[in-house]
Amino acid sequence: MTRDPEILILGAGPAGLGAALALATCGVEALIVDSGSAAGGQVYRPLPGAFEPGDASGLGPDYREGERQRRLLADSGAGTAFGRLVWSIGTDLRVDALGPEGPESWRPKGIVAAAGATERVVPFPGWTLPGVMGLAAATILLKSQCVLPGERVLVAGCGPLLFAVANAIRKGGGQVVAVADLAGPGAWLHALPALLGQPRDLLRGASWMARLRAQGVPLLFRHGVREARAAGAGLEVSLGAVDAAGRPIPSASEKTLEADSLVVGHGLIPATEAVRLLGAEVVFDADAGGWVPRLDRDQRSSRAGLYAAGDGAGVRGAAAAFLAGRIAGMTAALDLGRIDAGHHARATAPLRRRLARARRFGRAMARLMAQRPGQVDGIAGDTVVCRCEDVTRAEVEAALERGAADVNQLKSWTRCGMGPCQGRMCGDTVGQIVAARTGSREAAGAWTARAPLRPLGVDALAGDFDYADIPLPAAAPL
Ligand SMILES: Cc1cc2nc3c(=O)[nH]c(=O)nc-3n(C[C@H](O)[C@H](O)[C@H](O)COP(=O)(O)OP(=O)(O)OC[C@H]3O[C@@H](n4cnc5c(N)ncnc54)[C@H](O)[C@@H]3O)c2cc1C
Repeated sequence: MTRDPEILILGAGPAGLGAALALATCGVEALIVDSGSAAGGQVYRPLPGAFEPGDASGLGPDYREGERQRRLLADSGAGTAFGRLVWSIGTDLRVDALGPEGPESWRPKGIVAAAGATERVVPFPGWTLPGVMGLAAATILLKSQCVLPGERVLVAGCGPLLFAVANAIRKGGGQVVAVADLAGPGAWLHALPALLGQPRDLLRGASWMARLRAQGVPLLFRHGVREARAAGAGLEVSLGAVDAAGRPIPSASEKTLEADSLVVGHGLIPATEAVRLLGAEVVFDADAGGWVPRLDRDQRSSRAGLYAAGDGAGVRGAAAAFLAGRIAGMTAALDLGRIDAGHHARATAPLRRRLARARRFGRAMARLMAQRPGQVDGIAGDTVVCRCEDVTRAEVEAALERGAADVNQLKSWTRCGMGPCQGRMCGDTVGQIVAARTGSREAAGAWTARAPLRPLGVDALAGDFDYADIPLPAAAPL
């Protein structure tokens, strides 16, 4: 066990970074832990350590902002533990991670959960085929490896990442066969007043759309993927019109396009596994992406010593994540007695004003990528919904017919959500299917969180040992 920090921050994205900087200004010993090779999280993702970018000007504004944030963190004096995958957190706040040197543990006085979000992909026939990839996953490939997801790519789903990814593919020399957005132009116009609060981001998004149009990329609004099929070395993808709830319009004609790969994503879901593992209260907030921890205005959860910020506390984007992280850090310092209430109030007041603006922008973006119930209604019985355990919608419905009353009972009966991803991929869809019977997502419930929080090999935890060295218990008396 290495030296215990006073506060451990799980996640080095904008939220975790904000918390680390705030804690450093209050003289609190903080340790920021992340599975990545450096700080930045999803938006400001660093290049792998072995990469030497040379002229970094082509890597774009997110990379440059990431470099700035990484310098700030290095100058702050906060402790860092990169390349560490946190796989368990005990009720005594013992944090277990697996790092390059093997298992590591810390026992901090408090934890700031800043674990970000998980991508949502609503299942359709063919979604598990090779060549089909998440939209947010594609940003990892593009940013971290500077690799295109294919040479001819069909980009589909909803939200701002659609246009960001399509633009990055074009910029990298790839062809975008089409962009299919579940939202219509009306939904984007509706979001405009909230987006005006962050004009730089608005302009950036508008320029992505305008550039794609100018380059002749077909932009298919109110369209969704109906099916993907393997065709030669690539894919054949059927698209069709959808209604405002994302439900396929049966009478609408289908378009079939060929592509090397299909990049598809339907928004983001807050990553709340750590918070749920610690038994903190969660509430369902569709507008924030799903289940989120119940927090007070200072980012405290219902469990003493546990704070949360960023997309993991409700999807609101990078700017809001950073500001909420700073408030969480100031609050943890207050609770440790390092600053007084006056200091906390003075430091957080300007952050709260900026946070309100950033959240307005984030909420408008989150609405564009919110789950559309009609999409889930349209999932056919023979479509796999839990890809880890190969459970189809029909099997889920059959368990509900037999009386499964919530998502956890369903999990025990079908193994749905029990695979290596621990329900991160299927949880939202299954929750919606169960809610159609129970009447609400609250009644359908949230998966019970279990360690390991992320898949890892048991051999890595066990390390090297000799069977002969295992102490044998004494035999029971005859
Ligand atoms: C795959 C993906 C790609 C995205 N790409 C973009 C993009 O290109 N542009 C954009 O504007 N928004 C993107 N987003 C949205 C973006 O994540 C947020 O808006 C913003 O980064 C939120 O900041 P955060 O600090 O809350 O979380 P994040 O930036 O997601 O940071 C969370 C950090 O926690 C770490 N972490 C989580 N769990 C563990 C664990 N168990 N052990 C160790 N480390 C852990 C992760 O490695 C990550 O670095 C993406 C989201 C996802 C899920």
